Formats: sequence, structure tokens, C-alpha cells
Amino acid sequence: MHVELLVIGFGKAGKTLAGAFGNQGRSVAMVEQSDQMYGGTCINIGCVPTKALVHDAASRRDSDDPAAFYEAAITRKTELTDLLRGKNYAMLDTVDAVTVITGRARFTGPDQVEVTGGADSLTITADHIIVNTGAVPVIPDVPGLADSRFLRTSTSLIATRALPKQLVVIGGGPIGLELASVYRGFGSEVTVLQRDTFFAREDDDVAEAATAVLRESGITLVEHADVTEVVDADGSTSVHFTTQGGAQTVTADALLVASGRRPATDDLGLAEAGIDTDERGGIVVDDHLRSSNGKVFAVGDVNGGRAVHLHLVRRPPDRVGRTHRGGSAYDAGPGGHAQHDVHHASAEPSRPQ
Ligand SMILES: Cc1cc2nc3c(=O)[nH]c(=O)nc-3n(C[C@H](O)[C@H](O)[C@H](O)COP(=O)(O)OP(=O)(O)OC[C@H]3O[C@@H](n4cnc5c(N)ncnc54)[C@H](O)[C@@H]3O)c2cc1C
Repeated sequence: MHVELLVIGFGKAGKTLAGAFGNQGRSVAMVEQSDQMYGGTCINIGCVPTKALVHDAASRRDSDDPAAFYEAAITRKTELTDLLRGKNYAMLDTVDAVTVITGRARFTGPDQVEVTGGADSLTITADHIIVNTGAVPVIPDVPGLADSRFLRTSTSLIATRALPKQLVVIGGGPIGLELASVYRGFGSEVTVLQRDTFFAREDDDVAEAATAVLRESGITLVEHADVTEVVDADGSTSVHFTTQGGAQTVTADALLVASGRRPATDDLGLAEAGIDTDERGGIVVDDHLRSSNGKVFAVGDVNGGRAVHLHLVRRPPDRVGRTHRGGSAYDAGPGGHAQHDVHHASAEPSRPQ
């Protein structure tokens, strides 16, 4: 199969570009590895379902049974994401020039990709390729953690229909703290273990106020916690950690790892296509989001979360465009901290995008 544009991953920019090209009658293939992910992370397992749970957790009354209330909230969240996923699929599937293919893509040459789904495989060549494969959670190298039966990622936690009694969160970045707050709202006992301090990127007064709000809600926040081992027992797991005060242990029936996400480039065959990556596996791009392979562009979290926004800066009498590259707050590095890379470069006069 040959197309003018091949998009790998149903993320935000990729689906928008696929639709725009397709609506101009140009041939497009959109490859998505999971039939549960049409529309990408945000609507299926990210921003939208978590915000639905934030809303529901905040509306629980003391008289509501926590387990039943939580299960009903998970049902509502699932109905919402099912609806949005269906609409996202239809948005591309109804465009004649767009073919949506469900399977996992891997480069087998500079302009060639192999897509596999079950026993089937398909080779696609393209004039241009956009990689929009997003990011995956980082699981820290702690003895017993990866094999723990109680290990949850944000994705598996919000798919769980049984409310955890004791949730321990490793990582106090935006995802860890948001879910800590959500599950506390639903009635779980929650402990968050953070390698350094909470809200370290914020001003002291803001960090203090936000920390106080979380503590007042009943969340146990532990700073300077270094998780050393995870040991499973029958119905719970023991999380061993050290702090400045010495060694401690907390038990959990759900252990959320929220210690950062990294670009999803494993097994993409990038080297075979001459696509360079950085030390975190992110695809290196220029200011036009073009990779070291001139035919291949990388958008969204897979390029390290860098976006290129063109702002107009008033500097009479000329209009001068300014390029601003900023990391997403959800592009958390080790320890759950957002990594921002702000860089300004002069550019030719241009229109806002
Ligand atoms: C729990 C959580 C909460 C979040 N909340 C917020 C928030 O409130 N606000 C905010 O701004 N951001 C939030 N984010 C971050 C935001 O969701 C992501 O930054 C954004 O969705 C990334 O979009 P993307 O376009 O890079 O790719 P994605 O939307 O991640 O899409 C990538 C797609 O590629 C597919 N894929 C991967 N590899 C392959 C392959 N080899 N072949 C085929 N398909 C492949 C994946 O299945 C996926 O569907 C949250 C993230 C999480 C996990």
C-alpha cells in the first residue's frame, strides 16, 4: 500500500493532520495499535477520564457508600470515553481518502513501515510520515516493583472497578497528585511518596498552600522518600522506603507508579529509518518538527513534548514571529517533575497557527 501521508499513532496532532489531508482528497493511512485508543491518550486514558473522576470524586457526600459510588463513577467515565473514542474513529473513518488501520507500526526503511495486528501484516510506503506515538509510564528500577501484583499505572488504576482501601502513589508530579486527590475524594487512604519536595517548581507560598490543601484532605505526603523495595503478601504489598528520618514501610492494596512518562519509541525501528533520538528516547526534531529523516516528522509527546507555537510579538513597525518551544507539564521527568525547555528564536514574519 502506498499513501501520500502515513500517520503512526492516533494522537491529537496526527488525527487533525490526517483529517485535514484526507478532506483535501490526499491519500492517508492512520495506524493505531489499539482499538481502545482511537483518539489517543487524552480522551481515552488521560485528561478527559481523569477530569471526569475529579468531578465525581468532589461530588461524593458522606452518606454515599464509597465502593458503590466509585464503581458508578468508573462506569460513567467509561461511557464517556467510549463515546469520544467512537466519535474520533468516525471522524477519520468517514473520510474517503483516509484508511484507519488497527495494528502496531514499525519502520523497516526510510519511507516504509510494517504494520502487524495478530497474524496479519501490511507494508505501507509513504511520501511523508508523521510519528505521533505519545509516551509511556516509566517504571523505576526498584526490587519487587515491576513484578508486584498490586502495581498500577494511571491507565490500569482508573480502569479498576474496586475502590482501593490503601493507595500508595510513587511520584508527586501532576498525574500522581491528581489521582491521589481523586482517590482520597472517593474514600481511599492515600500516601504519596515523593523523591524530593512537592511542587518544587512553584513559588514557595504556592507550594505551601497547595501542600496544605492536600494534607487537609487527609492525604499523607512524604517528602525525600526513596523507595527501596516492594514486597507482596496475600492481600497487600509492603512498600519500603527511606527518608531523612530513617527506614519506613507503608502497606497498600494498590500501588500507583506515577514517576514520569517517556517517549513511546521502543520497537519503532527508528534506527532503520535514520531517525535520531535523544537520551530519553524522544525523536529529535527541528523547529518544523522534522526528524533527521527529512520525510518523517514527530509530533506530541514522542518528540519530548515539544511544541512549536508561533506568537506575534509587537515590535513596530515590523511584525516579528517568535518561536516558543515549551515542555508539557505532563511530560514528567524522573521523579515526576515537569521538564520545561523554553527557547526563543527569531523567525520570519508569520501568521499565528
Ligand atoms: C493520566 C493522565 C492525565 C493527563 N492529564 C492531562 C491534562 O489534564 N492536561 C494535559 O494537558 N495533559 C494531560 N495529560 C497528558 C496528555 O494526555 C498527553 O500529553 C497527550 O495526550 C499526548 O498526546 P500525543 O498526541 O503526543 O499522543 P497520544 O495521544 O498519546 O497518542 C499516541 C497514540 O499512539 C499509539 N501508538 C503508540 N505506539 C504505536 C505504534 N508503534 N503503532 C501504532 N500506534 C502506536 C498509542 O496507542 C496512542 O493511541 C495526561 C496524561 C495522563 C497519562
